[in-house]
Amino acid sequence: NGEVTENFGDARERWNEIAPLVSSAQRAYHSGDEPIVTDEHYDRLVRELRRLEAEHPELAVDSSPAQSVGAPAAAGFENVAHLERLYSLQDVFTLDDLKEWYEGTAGAARCTAEVKIDGLAVNLRYVGGELVVGATRGDGVTGEDVTANVRTISSVPQSLRGDFPDVVEIRGEVFIPLAKFDSFNARQRAAGLKEFANPRNAAAGSLRQKDPKVAAERPLDFIAHGAGRIDGTSSAVDEKLASQKGLYELFQEWGVPVSPYVRLVSSWDDVEGFVREYADLRSDLIHGIDGAVFKIDSRAEQEDLGATSRVPRWAVAYKYPPEEVETRLLDIKVQV
Ligand code: NAD
Repeated sequence: NGEVTENFGDARERWNEIAPLVSSAQRAYHSGDEPIVTDEHYDRLVRELRRLEAEHPELAVDSSPAQSVGAPAAAGFENVAHLERLYSLQDVFTLDDLKEWYEGTAGAARCTAEVKIDGLAVNLRYVGGELVVGATRGDGVTGEDVTANVRTISSVPQSLRGDFPDVVEIRGEVFIPLAKFDSFNARQRAAGLKEFANPRNAAAGSLRQKDPKVAAERPLDFIAHGAGRIDGTSSAVDEKLASQKGLYELFQEWGVPVSPYVRLVSSWDDVEGFVREYADLRSDLIHGIDGAVFKIDSRAEQEDLGATSRVPRWAVAYKYPPEEVETRLLDIKVQV
């Protein structure tokens, strides 16, 4: 709670205790292995690491898990360098902090309001309209090449339609729909195969199958929520690229699935209303969500604000409190 400030020795000792745990949790979480702590517990540990590092900057080394995006690409897949870096999202846990971001950083600008899809980030590179690479986020700079598995996802187009750029990186979330998760797990159980803790974990594990035939049998789906490099565009496309909403319209024109839950908001009441509405709708959506995301709609303003080494300044994720069941099961295992 920020009241107790320990001396450097105590801070370093605590850092040494939790940093390795956070690193292991990141590796497990991003590789689709069984998570070793709950998201709530993980978020608490990361916040503590950040506080220790803010109070004792000597601890904020580059290798700190609090300074990184995701986890490095795992062995077993070719590495692939993204043309442009992928970021994480700045998260807030209270409506007060969300309001501070909206009225402060965002200057109460028009924003897209979106749900935070609980899946895993992938980067799709299209050259001449053809899908050439599908990669995980990895550490944001280099990801794992999972192209063969991505090609098995029927909602990911192999070729774009219409007026597409020469080169485009489309970012989005791979997930397992809520309606398909239970029956998928039941099939795994019946076949004596591994069951998954939650849909996100199942999606991460499925996208990392060595055999694309196995991935093809998994009920994976995809929704786009951002772009990286975009080269070689017509003026009509450039016009739409002026806004985040316009980007989503382009995705649709190109045949790339976008979220049905996006809307524009331009006041704090709208922002708060979106957060409350989707907290209630949470279990009725196509996919799991763990929060609401707000992005400044103007891409020129996005560019002006830029990013830190980890997160864009023009977007924020409000995290919903975790859902009960999973929490109890996992938190018994690790107590730090
Ligand atoms: P994050 O998952 O909190 O947020 C960033 C990601 O959100 C982006 O990379 C993007 O893929 C995704 N996203 C979903 N919907 C989006 C939308 N509409 N627009 C933009 N992006 C959207 O951050 P992270 O760095 O990937 O992981 C950190 C979080 O993951 C933690 O807060 C924790 O909840 C969880 N985690 C848990 C464990 C664990 O052991 N339980 C370990 C590591 C991470």
